[in-house]
Amino acid sequence: MSVPVPRRAVLRGAVLLGAAAGATALTQFGAGRDARAVATRIDQPTIANCATWGARPPSSAVSVVQSRPNKIIIHHTAFPNTTDYSLAQAYRNSRDIQNLHMDTNGWLDSGQHFTNSRGGYLTEGRHGSLYGLLHGETMVQGAHCVGQNSQAIGIENDGIYLDVQPPQALWNSLVVFCAFTCQQYGIPPTEIYGHKDFNNTQCPGLLHDRLPELRSTVAARLGA
Ligand SMILES: [Zn+2]
Repeated sequence: MSVPVPRRAVLRGAVLLGAAAGATALTQFGAGRDARAVATRIDQPTIANCATWGARPPSSAVSVVQSRPNKIIIHHTAFPNTTDYSLAQAYRNSRDIQNLHMDTNGWLDSGQHFTNSRGGYLTEGRHGSLYGLLHGETMVQGAHCVGQNSQAIGIENDGIYLDVQPPQALWNSLVVFCAFTCQQYGIPPTEIYGHKDFNNTQCPGLLHDRLPELRSTVAARLGA
C-alpha cells in the first residue's frame, strides 16, 4: 500500500537538536560503559530531519511499509573523501545525494533512509524515515538495495572506502546509529549487512570487512 506520510506525523518525529547535543550523545557511549549491563537503553542520537538540512519535497508520495524492518544495510556514497567535517558539509552532502537520486536516478526522494557524514553527523534521508525509527513500528520503503527496500534500513556513509578507512567520527556515529536502530526496531545486531551481501557492487568497501566488529560493538552497547 502506498500512502503519503502525514505532515503532522513527520513534524512530531522531528529532531531539531544542534551540534552540541550531538557531541554529548556520542560521548556518552564512550569508554567506561559496562558492556555486560543487561537491557542497556540507547538514547536517541541527534539525527537532523529533512527540514533541518533543507530537503526538497518528494516528487510523489513516499510508501509506508506497515511492518518493522528486519535488518540494517551499510553503504558508502562513493563520493570523494571530503576533509570538511562540519555540520554544514553533512547537510550539503544530504542535499547532493537527494539531488542525484531525484534528478539523475529519477527517484521520488533520497533512496537511503539515513546518512552519516565524515564528521559523524547523522541526517534523515527519505522523508518519513525518522518518524518510523522513533516510533519503531513502520518504515518507509527505500531505494538503496535491490530486493531489500521494504525490509532493510539503509544508511549511506559519506565517502569511498575501497582502500582507506573512514574517519573515527564516522565510525563512532555509525555504531550509535546501528545500536539505536536495532533497539527501536528489535533488530538483532547480527542482522547488520553490507550492500555487497545482496547486490553486485563494491559498496561499502572496507566497511564491509568491519561488519563483524560493527555487529559485536553494537551488541555490546545493547547489552546483548
Ligand atoms: Zn550501496
